[in-house]
Amino acid sequence: MSVGTHIEWTETTWNPVSGCTKISPGCKHCYAERFAERFRGVKGHPYEQGFDLKLVPEKLTEPLRLRKPQRIFVNSMSDLFHPAVPDEYIVKVVDVMTQADWHTYQVLTKRSARMLSLLTGILNQARQCKHIWWGVSVEDRKYGFPRINELRKCPVRTKFLSIEPLLEDLGEIDLDSISWVIVGGESGPGARPLLKEWVLNIRRQCRLHGVPFFFKQWGGVRKSKAGRLLNGRTYNEYPEMGSPAIQSR
Ligand code: SF4
Repeated sequence: MSVGTHIEWTETTWNPVSGCTKISPGCKHCYAERFAERFRGVKGHPYEQGFDLKLVPEKLTEPLRLRKPQRIFVNSMSDLFHPAVPDEYIVKVVDVMTQADWHTYQVLTKRSARMLSLLTGILNQARQCKHIWWGVSVEDRKYGFPRINELRKCPVRTKFLSIEPLLEDLGEIDLDSISWVIVGGESGPGARPLLKEWVLNIRRQCRLHGVPFFFKQWGGVRKSKAGRLLNGRTYNEYPEMGSPAIQSR
């Protein structure tokens, strides 16, 4: 567990699974892959097997041991709903989240179809947990919009969008039942551009529908230089945790 992270919208990362495979254009410059592959072959290192998907059961109980309430990004180095993660293992991860309920969990996936299928089936004990937020990544209309539609069908309280790396103007977005929107550009070598008007379009729609808006970063090759100011200010809004007002929007 990594308490204190550079990811602006969370506090702690928890990786009971590591590694993944690419599924859509947003994965092209996957940060997790770049990080993990640096250690491939390094004997004894947690990423000795690079970005190959691996269950890490010894990390399962970490949230139970962390007494201070944290906002926890679940699987920052993987995707919980990857097809190689067995259903029974996902149930174990979710069981820990339901037990260690003093934390807030942020579960983010690109495999929204499987998330929907499990949340309407074997994960039904987690459905109404206020402290678990469920989100999908959106990089463009083609891949992102079907994920939003599947997220909307999930029988959970807090649903969010991580629109990062934003790769094109999304036009009109259906924000019905969405509780939170994060927007960011790609960072690191080969970063694809982010246009200000694309970001302003999303902020405008969030304002219109009363959805909290978090602007994470402009990105670019040197993300610290580009910063995260939008029209001279930061946007660090969060959903009110489990608020019925948010849920019914
Ligand atoms: S789904 Fe996420 S973790 Fe997996 S390859 Fe794509 S960007 Fe990386």
